[in-house]
Amino acid sequence: MKKLVSLFLIVGILFSVSICGCITESSHIKETEKIEGSKLTLSKPKNDNKKVKNVILMIGDGMGITQTYLAERYKEEIENGHLVILTNFKTRGTITTYSLSSEVTDSAAAGTALLSGYKTNNGMINILPNGSIPRKTLGEIAKEKGKSVGIVTTTRVTHATPASVYAHIKDREEEDKIAEQLLEFEPDVVLGGGLEYFIPKDEKGSKRKDNKNLIEEFKKKGYTIVYNKEELEKVNPENTKKLLGLFSMSHMAYEIDRENIPEYQNQPSLAEMTKKALEILDKNPNGFFLMVEGGRIDHACHAHDAKSEIMDTIAFDEAVKVALDYQKKHPDTLIIVTADHETGGLSIGRGTGYYANITALKPIDASIGFMSKEILKNPNKEFVLNLIKTYWHINLTDKEKELLFKYPLTSKINDSNLLNNYPKINHYVHCWAGFALSEIESRRANIGWTSFAHTAVPVPVYAKGPGEEMFEGFYDNTDIPKKIEQIWT
Ligand SMILES: [Zn+2]
Repeated sequence: MKKLVSLFLIVGILFSVSICGCITESSHIKETEKIEGSKLTLSKPKNDNKKVKNVILMIGDGMGITQTYLAERYKEEIENGHLVILTNFKTRGTITTYSLSSEVTDSAAAGTALLSGYKTNNGMINILPNGSIPRKTLGEIAKEKGKSVGIVTTTRVTHATPASVYAHIKDREEEDKIAEQLLEFEPDVVLGGGLEYFIPKDEKGSKRKDNKNLIEEFKKKGYTIVYNKEELEKVNPENTKKLLGLFSMSHMAYEIDRENIPEYQNQPSLAEMTKKALEILDKNPNGFFLMVEGGRIDHACHAHDAKSEIMDTIAFDEAVKVALDYQKKHPDTLIIVTADHETGGLSIGRGTGYYANITALKPIDASIGFMSKEILKNPNKEFVLNLIKTYWHINLTDKEKELLFKYPLTSKINDSNLLNNYPKINHYVHCWAGFALSEIESRRANIGWTSFAHTAVPVPVYAKGPGEEMFEGFYDNTDIPKKIEQIWT
C-alpha cells in the first residue's frame, strides 16, 4: 500500500508540474497575440525556440493506459521499479483513434494517421479509398529534408505499423508487395522480423508468391544484413551505412519467450535494436526520423495474455529509456511515445469482486502462443499438465482442470458461455487449450477482457524535447504528424 501511495504522489507531482507547464504556455500564446495585434512583422517563425532536428516516434501497438498501468503495477510489485513512460515525461496528451471506416481502428488506418496525418479505411496504409495520397509520411518528409530514416519493430517489418513509415497500399495483407516498397524506399536502418517476405518462393519458409530474392536486392543497394543478436552486436556503426536485420521468419518472439525459451534467445531485445539504430542514424549531420514499435503488446492482448502484455510493455519501456538517454545528450531530439489503439478492452478487476491479484502472474514464464503451439504438437493430458508445471510453475486446481479439458485440447470450438459468442478461436490463441489457459491466467489475476479485437478507447501521448508542450491536451491521432511537421527543421 505504501508503494501505491508513493506512486500516487509521483503522479500528483507530475500532474501539478504539467499544469504549471500549461500556464506558462498560455501566457506565451497571449504574448504572441499581443505582438501580432500590434501588427509587428514577425520575421522569425512562431516556434523558433523549438527547433527539432531528430524525431523518435515510439508506438506501443495496442498499448492503452490500462496496458501501461498493469505493467507499471507489475514492475512495482515484483521488480520494485517504475516504468520510465509513466515517470520521465511531464508532458502528456490524449488522442482519439477512430478511422475513416470505423469507430474502432485497425493498425493500418491508425498507422496512416500517426505517420501521415489523415484518416483512411481500416486495412489501408497511407492511401485513401479512392487511391489518392493526400499527404507524405514522416519517413518521406525526413528523406526530403536529407535526414536518415530508421524502422525498428518486434513484428514483421512489413506489418501495418512499420509499413506506415514507407508503404502506400490498399490492402495491408499484401506484405510481399510491401517488402518491395521497403526496398524502393531504402531506409537507413530496418530491424525486426519478417524474413519470410524477403526470400524466394522456393526457399523453405517463404511467404512470397514469386521467386524474387529481396535479400540479394538489399545487398546490391549496399545493406549490411544481420540475422541474430550476435551479428547485430558486431555491427560497427562507424563503417555501416545501411543496415537490415531480420531476426525471425514472421514476428519476433514475445519478450516473455525471448527471455525464457532457449530457441528465441538469439533474438535481440527492442532496446538493443533501438540502441544500434540510434548509433547509425546519429551519423547524419542533418538528423533522422526513427520509428520504434513495441508490436507484440497488441498480439498479447488479442490472446488475452496478461503476462505477455506486461513483459512486452516493459521491453518497450526499456527501448523508451534508450531514446530518453539519447535525448539527454542530444536535446534537439523530440520523442513522442503513444499507441495506435487499445486492444482487448483490458481491465484490472472483473466480475463482482473488488480486487486484482497481479502477483499471481509472477510464475508464468511462457506466452499463451508458445504454450498452445506446444499443445498442438503433443495434445496429451499428461504432457499438457507437465508443460504448465514447467513453464508456468503452477498446479491447476480441479476447477481449472475441468475448464482446460472441457473440449478436445486442439479443437477450434468456441464456448458461447465463456467466449461471448466469439465466432472462432483466433490465431493468437491457436486452439481451445490456448483459450482455456488465457482464462485461467486472467481469473487468477482477476484481469478482465471485453474484446478479442481493438477498442475505440482514446490512448495517451507522452512527449519530450523541443516543442513538447504542443502535445498536451485532448486531440486526434492525425494531429501528431502535423504538430511534428510544424517544429521539424
Ligand atoms: Zn491488433
